[in-house]
Amino acid sequence: MKEKEHSPVSTEVTPASEVRDVIIVGSGPAGYTAAIYTARADLKPLMIAGSVTAGGELMNTTDVENFPGFPDGIMGPDLMENLGQQAEKFGTEVMYDDVTSVELEGAIKTVTLADGQEFKARTVIISTGSAYRELGVDGEKRLVGHGVSSCATCDGFFFKGQDIAVIGGGDSAMEEAIFLTKFAATVTVVHRRDSLRASKIMAERALKHPKIKFIWNSEVVSVEGEAKVTGARLNNLVTGEQSDLAVTGLFVAIGNDPRVDLVKGVLELTEAGTIAVESRSSKTSIKGVFAAGDVVDPTYRQAITAAGSGCVAALDVEHYLAEQDS
Ligand SMILES: Cc1cc2nc3c(=O)[nH]c(=O)nc-3n(C[C@H](O)[C@H](O)[C@H](O)COP(=O)(O)OP(=O)(O)OC[C@H]3O[C@@H](n4cnc5c(N)ncnc54)[C@H](O)[C@@H]3O)c2cc1C
Repeated sequence: MKEKEHSPVSTEVTPASEVRDVIIVGSGPAGYTAAIYTARADLKPLMIAGSVTAGGELMNTTDVENFPGFPDGIMGPDLMENLGQQAEKFGTEVMYDDVTSVELEGAIKTVTLADGQEFKARTVIISTGSAYRELGVDGEKRLVGHGVSSCATCDGFFFKGQDIAVIGGGDSAMEEAIFLTKFAATVTVVHRRDSLRASKIMAERALKHPKIKFIWNSEVVSVEGEAKVTGARLNNLVTGEQSDLAVTGLFVAIGNDPRVDLVKGVLELTEAGTIAVESRSSKTSIKGVFAAGDVVDPTYRQAITAAGSGCVAALDVEHYLAEQDS
């Protein structure tokens, strides 16, 4: 993967004593798109970008081939660098810090950072994304973007004619496994139990698929490979025997957690754990608070859908402020 750091230098920000029009929490595709739109609407957004995870999920990947506008693809970190530059060009103030608490009720919202600084605004956009659950085994983190993935839609195309594995036994694991059969020579599902957790219909489709094989009662102990994935070491949970599975791709499909810690108990959440928004809008259960990107999306979770929902949030903020001022 090309090493390129997203600019870690915070821009000069308007004094904290001023009440802003909008604060954006999170600097993934949703946050930056919201920043570009609100900055161009002259709302002078303050973005709290995150300290170590600025730029969001795409900072962890290599080629992005499905973001419109880049016919030759673009490296994830480069795409985020471009979005950052575009947001700053129109006047977005960016702080590379974490938000640790928020007070969202009332006309003026308060956002508190890890260092205790408080910023106030009439609206807040929450775009804190979501996190794919990890196996937590040796080699996994090091080989993300080099054979380890958690997104079949994003990366399946790179595994044409290869032998790959999907780890997990739920609906999303089966969906990923079935989707990956379009590209891969074989897909081996590795599951900790002796039966699938997936719904009957998904399980049946996967079980009868000629390209999908199953290894039951087994967990991944480590992901093998130097520059790229060459296999996975498995442990049979019943017999205790270890074995090697030769694969060039490993899709981890054991769940995804929306990052809602900041707003748990404050904003209404959905059954899936995402922030609840009103139909196609970004309006949350509190007036003046909007949410966008993977943190509201249990289904699509793509950079372009996150960016699109960041645009929606920015327009919702504009309309809300205009209404308040009329
Ligand atoms: C390995 C991998 C590869 C992928 N490849 C593709 C691909 O090829 N194409 C594609 O379309 N999609 C891809 N995706 C999916 C895509 O990355 C996500 O759908 C997209 O990044 C979601 O954008 P977001 O803005 O909602 O959230 P994120 O990108 O997750 O960004 C969330 C932001 O919130 C910030 N944040 C969180 N908590 C706080 C806090 N308390 N204070 C301040 N900031 C905070 C983080 O720092 C981060 O900046 C991939 C995902 C992964 C994991």
